[in-house]
Formats: sequence, structure tokens, C-alpha cells
Amino acid sequence: MLILVINAGSSSLKYQLIDMNGEICIAKGLCERIGVDGKIEAKNMRTGEVYEEETAMPNHTVAFQSVKKALISGNAKVIDDLAEIKAVGHRIVQGGALFNKSVVIDNEVIDGIESLCDLAPLHNPAHIQGIRACIEVFGKEVPEVVVFDNAFHSTMPPEAYMFPIPYEYYEKYKIRRYGFHGTSHRYVSARCAELMGQDIKGLKIITCHLGNGASITAIKNGEVVDTSMGLTPLDGFIMGTRTGGIDPSAVTYLQAKEGWTPEQTDTVLNKKSGVLGISGISNDDRDVKAAALEGNARAKLARDIQWYQIRKFIGSYVAAMQGVDAIVFTGGIGENTFDLRADVCEKLAFLGIALDAAANEKTIRGAEGAITAPDSPIKVFVIPTNEELMIARDTQDLVK
Ligand code: AMP
Repeated sequence: MLILVINAGSSSLKYQLIDMNGEICIAKGLCERIGVDGKIEAKNMRTGEVYEEETAMPNHTVAFQSVKKALISGNAKVIDDLAEIKAVGHRIVQGGALFNKSVVIDNEVIDGIESLCDLAPLHNPAHIQGIRACIEVFGKEVPEVVVFDNAFHSTMPPEAYMFPIPYEYYEKYKIRRYGFHGTSHRYVSARCAELMGQDIKGLKIITCHLGNGASITAIKNGEVVDTSMGLTPLDGFIMGTRTGGIDPSAVTYLQAKEGWTPEQTDTVLNKKSGVLGISGISNDDRDVKAAALEGNARAKLARDIQWYQIRKFIGSYVAAMQGVDAIVFTGGIGENTFDLRADVCEKLAFLGIALDAAANEKTIRGAEGAITAPDSPIKVFVIPTNEELMIARDTQDLVK
């Protein structure tokens, strides 16, 4: 069964075509600059052939037509006929409190996603454009499924998801912690239980998704009990360009001093802060690490803050779950930055983490495995995430 997985942004469209027989990605691609000019890059994963074209993409419908063309024709062609695609799965960032699991798309579902646009103004409107365009190009007969980034977090108890502001604002605006990266946390926690050869129902797992955006989640018996991102993906700890949690008074103080509008505030907190803001160099850990190793004090400070805050979050989730059996690192940084992993594990040795330094240093660039000694009471794993596969699995389960 072939399933097309779609991640539609406001000016981009990423896709993967997954053969569920073996769970293999057979094609992947990206349309960029939709609404500006337009470019598609498509790769046949079996042959390695890449198709590239700069072509006008005034909207998502035209972008989907380019995807269709790249899949069935040209040098990177993977299938003869579009009819071979049996279902489409869409990634949706914000499902709010409306959706606690993946669902098959109908008009009511689209209206539900639309009603949550206020909570995810950058993402949900683009997802709806993507869904509508996909239906237009692939036809109504191909079933489509939506998989929500925060559905996995819907098991959080109120003491974890409520913000202590006047209750009326929760009632009026549904302001609370929703969490993000849920599909990734779900995938790596399930895989962690598999690697441990144990039922997830008996495990306490802390999953660290560390990329340009980053979040940490506490998962007890397969259910999320707390997660670091909040109403939006800004909360938690320091990220590539985002602050993570800071004293809100610092924000109102700066608004008063600098005369920032809400939009300007948003830009500073989301795009100019974090590792980039502290280091003044880059949001990419590779650049910041290189500068820190050359003696740049602000680059080192950015990494010190990052490592410290990650350790602090893990510690707080051990307290939240009253214990932990396994910790997982994933995301671009979690999968590659072994010095960060070593620092976090060594400083948490008192909990019962015995790092295997050699395993840690070689488990990079897509490798999977334990980085703790076999007799370590708490296991630590590096597990490359695969959100697309999770979306494809949910889609297959729902359309079968
Ligand atoms: P993501 O958002 O998951 O793509 O992660 C992006 C972050 O991962 C960036 O800060 C990169 O520096 C880091 N990263 C990605 N690949 C590597 C790599 N091969 N080695 C070191 N860091 C990497």
C-alpha cells in the first residue's frame, strides 16, 4: 500500500511517498516559494535520481500538480499511475482540545482545524490550503487523514496543562499547554519500549526532541504526563532562535522600553532569540560549537544554557513521574551532538545513568542504539525520529 505523507506550510510543501510493505520511503520532495515564484526538488529514493524545476507556483494546487508530475514522469519518476497511491496523510500542527487522535478528513474536520487558526496562525491556515489543494488534485476518492502534532499530549492532567492565569481566560480562549512534536515523541517512545523489549505500559520514559525547535516530554505507561512546549512552540527551554520559557515580565518590560508591537515581540522571541540571540553567531549548533571550540565566550554560553536547561527539564520530569526507566535523544541535535548528550548523562549519573562514552560518540548520523552501559539502571537511547512513518501508519490504520 502506497501512502503519500504531506506537510504543507504557508509557502512550502514537503512530501514523502511511503510503501507500507516494508515501511520504506520511496520518494521525497519539497516545493518551495509557493506564492512567490516556485521550485520543486523531487527525489526517487530507490534510484537516487533527483528532479529539479523552477516553475510558477501561485498556490498549493499548482504545487500539488508539480508533485504529481514528478511522481509519475521525468527522471525521478517512481510510479506509473497516481491511482497507486491509496491514501494521503497530512501533518497538522494544532489540534487544540478538539482532536485527541488522528482522523479521516471530512468537512467537519476541516471546519474544526479552521476554528483553531487563531491558536496556530502560521500553520493551520497553510494546512487547510494544503488539504483543499490535495483533494482538488488527487480527487475525493482518495481517502485523506490528518495527524495532529499535539494529539499525543492530550493525556496530560490539568495540573500539567493549566497556566495559573485567571480561569476565565482558559474558558474564553482555551489558553493552556498543548505541546508539540507529539508525533515524534510518540514514535521514539514506542521504539524505545521496543528496543527495551518491554511493554510501554510499564515504563517511565523521557523523550528529548532536540532540533532547531526542541521539546522534552514525560511519558508514563505510554501516556504523556507533561511536555515542555505550551500554547505555542515557544515555551520550554532555549532553542535555535526561540527563547523557551522566560519571565513574562521581561517581555512586558521590553515592550514598554522598546515600544514593540505584539508582532515585533513575536519576531524577537521566536526568531531572534535562543542560541542565535545569545551567541550572535548562528542558530545552527554546528556553527556555534565550532565558535565555542575556538574560544568564543558567547557561543560557549549559548551551549552552556542549552545543556543546563535540558538537564533541568529532565530532572523535573523524573520528579513528575517519580522515577524514570529510559531517556531518549532525537532530532538533529539529539541524534548528532554527542558532547551535549555526554554532559547531560554524566551530570545525571547520580540518578543511575552509566554512560558508555564510546557508544555515545559513535551513535550519530542516523544511527540508533543505547548509549549507556548494559548494566545501567536507567537506559539512554539515541533514536532517529520518523514522523512521516508515524503519519503513514496512522493513515493506513484509519483507511484500512
Ligand atoms: P532539526 O531541526 O531536527 O533538523 O535539527 C537542526 C539542528 O541539528 C541544527 O542545530 C544542526 O546543527 C543540528 N544537526 C543536524 N545534523 C547534524 C549533524 N550531522 N551533526 C551535528 N549537528 C547536526
